[in-house]
Amino acid sequence: MKALLNKNGILMIVMKFGGTSVKDAEAFKNVTGIIKSRLNKKPLVVVSALAGITNLLIESLNDAAAHNIEKINHNIDEIKNRHSELIDELIIDGEIKTHLLELLAEEIDKLITLLNAARTIKLKSGALSHAVMSIGEILSSNILNGFLQTVKVNSGIIDAREVIVIENKRGDSFPDIDAIKENAVAKLIPILNEHECVVCAGFIGSTKEGEPATLGRNGSDYTASLLCSALNGDELEIWSDVDGILTADPTIIPAASPLKVMSFNEACELAYFGARVLHPAAIQPALEKNIPVRVLNSNTPDQNGTLIIKEIRDDETNTIVKSIAYKEGITLLNIESSKLLLSPKIIEEIFLILTHHGKRVYAISKSATKLSVTIENHADDLPAILTEISEYGEVTAQKGKVIVSVVGEKMAGHPSVPWHILQKLDEHKIKTDLVSQFASQISLVFIIDESEIEKTVTLLHKEFIESN
Ligand code: ASP
Ligand code: MG
Repeated sequence: MKALLNKNGILMIVMKFGGTSVKDAEAFKNVTGIIKSRLNKKPLVVVSALAGITNLLIESLNDAAAHNIEKINHNIDEIKNRHSELIDELIIDGEIKTHLLELLAEEIDKLITLLNAARTIKLKSGALSHAVMSIGEILSSNILNGFLQTVKVNSGIIDAREVIVIENKRGDSFPDIDAIKENAVAKLIPILNEHECVVCAGFIGSTKEGEPATLGRNGSDYTASLLCSALNGDELEIWSDVDGILTADPTIIPAASPLKVMSFNEACELAYFGARVLHPAAIQPALEKNIPVRVLNSNTPDQNGTLIIKEIRDDETNTIVKSIAYKEGITLLNIESSKLLLSPKIIEEIFLILTHHGKRVYAISKSATKLSVTIENHADDLPAILTEISEYGEVTAQKGKVIVSVVGEKMAGHPSVPWHILQKLDEHKIKTDLVSQFASQISLVFIIDESEIEKTVTLLHKEFIESN
C-alpha cells in the first residue's frame, strides 16, 4: 500500500532518534544534519528524551514518595540545567529561544507541583507518574523543532498527546490503533503537508479521557512504528548509538558485528529476548503493513545498519545462526501435580496468578504432570506467588537464571544445528534447562545459570557465527 502522502510520488518516512542520539548539543547538530539529508522523503521525526532524563524523572518520583527533598531538588536542578544549557548552545533566534525558555520554565513548574503532590498527599497515581515521565519528551521534541527552524528547515511539530491514545492497564500499555490512525490522518497529515518535516515526541500520549499516559520504558520506538503504520509510511528508521542489530551483546563479544538484513520474525525474537536496540512491540505495526525497518547509528550515519524486512532472499544472507540474545534476572518455576494430567484449567489458573502479579511469562514447557515457566523477577513478590501456586501442586523456584535465544530463520532447514548447539554446551559442561524450539524453528531457547552467560555466548558466537 502506498503512503497517504504519496499522491505526488513523494516518499514519506518515519525517523526515530533515541536518547543517546540527542544527549547534548553536539548530538542535536548531528541529528539535524541527518534529518536534512532526508528532507526529500518528508520525514516524521520521533524523538526520545535526552539520555538519562526519563531515569531522573522516575528517580524524582521515588524520592518524592520517600520524602527525600534534597535529592529531588538536586534532580530538578539537573533537569533544568541540562535543557537550558542546550537551548543556550543551540538556539540563536531570539523568538524561538524565548519560547523554549518559557516552555522549560512551565514544565519545571509543573514537575515541582506534581512532585509536591506525590510527596505531601502521598499520591503516586498512574496519571501523575505518566505526567512526570512525559516531561522529558515534551522538552526534547520542542527543542529539536526549534533547532530545526533555527537552521532554516521548515519544520513543524505535533503534540503526541493529541495523537497517541493509550490505555494503561496493570502496569502495561495498550495503544488504541484505530484512534491513533484517525488522529494521525486528521491532525498529522495537514501539518506534514505544510512543512518539510514534522517532529513528534516519542513515548508519550493520553488516555481516551485525556489523562497523561505513556507507552512504557523505551517506548519511543513503538510511537514511531505506530505512526509509520498509521500513515502507511515507506520506511521506518530507528536511530541510536549502535551500528544496527548485532550478532551478540558487544559487552561480552567486542567483535560482534551488525547484521545486514534480517526478517521481522528474527528481529521480533531478538528484541523479545533482550537485544536492546529495538522495543519488541515496535515490530508488530511495521510487520502488519510490511514496512521495512532500518536500525541505524547516528554517530556513523553513512553506514547501512540493519535492514529488517518480511522475507529474506536467499542471496541476501548465508548464515544459519544470526544472533544470540539473552535476558537476565529470570526465575524458573517448576510445578508438579498429577492434576495437570487431567485438567488444563489448572494451567489457566497458574497463568492468572502470574498475570495478576504483573509477571510476563517468557518460555514454558509442559509434560504430563510437570509445568515449567520462566518469569522476570526483579521485585520480591516471589514468596506470595509461590504460596498462591502451591494451591495447585508442588512448586519450586530457581532464581538467578538467564534465558538465551539463539536466532536464525535458516535453522528450520537445518535441524541438526540446534542439536549441535546443545551438544557443544554439553561438551563444555554447561547445564541447560527448559530447552524449547518453537514450531516455526526460528530460534532455540534455553535456560542457564547466570554465572554461565559469558562462557555460553562466547562459545556459541565462536562456533556458530564467527566460523562462518
Ligand atoms: N524516554 C523514554 C525512556 O527512556 C522512552 C524512550 O527513550 O524510548 O524509557
Ligand atoms: Mg531511552
